Amino acid sequence: MNFILVFFILHWFLSLFFHTFFLHRFASHKMYETSKNWERFFYLCTWLFQGSSYLVPRAYGVMHRMHHAYSDTEKDPHSPHFFKDIYEMLKNTVIIYRSFLLNKNIPEEEFTKDYLPVWDKLDKFGHHIITRISFMVLYILIYVFFTPSFWWFFLLPIHFLMGPIQGAIVNWCGHKYGYSNFNNTDHSKNTGPFGFILLGELFQNNHHHAKRDANFAKKWFEVDLTYQIMRVFNFAGIIRLNKIS
Ligand SMILES: [Zn+2]
Ligand SMILES: [Zn+2]
Repeated sequence: MNFILVFFILHWFLSLFFHTFFLHRFASHKMYETSKNWERFFYLCTWLFQGSSYLVPRAYGVMHRMHHAYSDTEKDPHSPHFFKDIYEMLKNTVIIYRSFLLNKNIPEEEFTKDYLPVWDKLDKFGHHIITRISFMVLYILIYVFFTPSFWWFFLLPIHFLMGPIQGAIVNWCGHKYGYSNFNNTDHSKNTGPFGFILLGELFQNNHHHAKRDANFAKKWFEVDLTYQIMRVFNFAGIIRLNKIS
């Protein structure tokens, strides 16, 4: 058994799950209610699994709400239709994200008036450069001890930048490639079979059509795995899915 492959898959899916389940579906859209203790637990997991590329929920939430309000217009923080490649788009996203995080740019009230989860101590610690570097050292050490061959080291940059890479894939492909179920007057698309690998996030066309709907899958052949897990959490009383009005 190749431990590095298992580690990579685990890191990919755990980081992505908390990205979509907590940062996107809770911090940005409040698709469910939960107790303060569970909220803190999910917050902690988001930091732990994103590790070196931890995205602070309040900055993520504000930026994502802007993305919906200005989808594929010039004011959209990361529309693929205004950048020549994915790298330029990612760079611009990071600049806007950091300006919110460091309070250099105060967002308009409409993007902060709804609930945004905040845990100042964890955010300071998680965002600190020493914490981020410590995670990177940990990933390197895991590779040093367990890699079957040198080539696997090329996967390390993906571990370092896991959160932003997953976000960039969704923002780039989800607004560029695929089919539409709805006319949202933007370029949002459902990128097809890759929806599964991105845990439902690549059904951007469906999601932009109904941004408070926790289920991103609308056709019989579309599967939103995150929503299915949320239904289990809802059934177990861990979260309470909000009714869509
Ligand atoms: Zn989108
Ligand atoms: Zn959204």
